[in-house]
Amino acid sequence: MNSPPWAYRLSISDIDAHYFEGAPDETFCSNCDSLDKIDYIPNRLNVHSGRIGDIGNTLDGRTVCRSRFREFCMLAAIDADFVAIPGDGDLFVFLPTKRIKFSPDVRPVRFIDSCKICGRFKEVIGSIPPYFDVDPNFSFTGILRSDLEFGAGRGKAPILIVDNATGRAMKGSRFRGLTLVGIDPFTTKSQVTAQGPQGPQVSPISRLRK
Ligand SMILES: [Zn+2]
Repeated sequence: MNSPPWAYRLSISDIDAHYFEGAPDETFCSNCDSLDKIDYIPNRLNVHSGRIGDIGNTLDGRTVCRSRFREFCMLAAIDADFVAIPGDGDLFVFLPTKRIKFSPDVRPVRFIDSCKICGRFKEVIGSIPPYFDVDPNFSFTGILRSDLEFGAGRGKAPILIVDNATGRAMKGSRFRGLTLVGIDPFTTKSQVTAQGPQGPQVSPISRLRK
């Protein structure tokens, strides 16, 4: 990649813990297992092996971080919620609040098994690289989350991207558990059509987010 990337995708290491371990059944849709109680916070994370770095993804798709990463975001004025996990001292659930529209018509997205109870899908499978439905001159600052969430059941989660300048500062901070993957210089819908999409690389979010 010769020119600087338009943005970076946050590729976050998995940690060996389930965020929803022990969560009551009513936290989820009884049919498709999608999350109903979006403000659910566990008392603590039962990490089975290994460590949690500055940021990590639980095996069921929640992003958690340490205060080191949180402080960086606060200094950078990144719009995000940080909710402390009570029994874990220095650990927060991290969720950016600004959204960007994913383009399912540029990169195919598979919506599997719509739920008769809640209207959501049991599984949503995305593709690499992500494409976003924005104007060619669109620029942003901070971290954005995709409007679509990918994965299955309770483990569905958005893709997170960060602008180039903030991403470079993040790289400089060497956060443990975080790799920043450049997203190609801006690719609009029409450019993709002109070049021809390079074949759908459909993959589950567990691979997509790594
Ligand atoms: Zn459902």
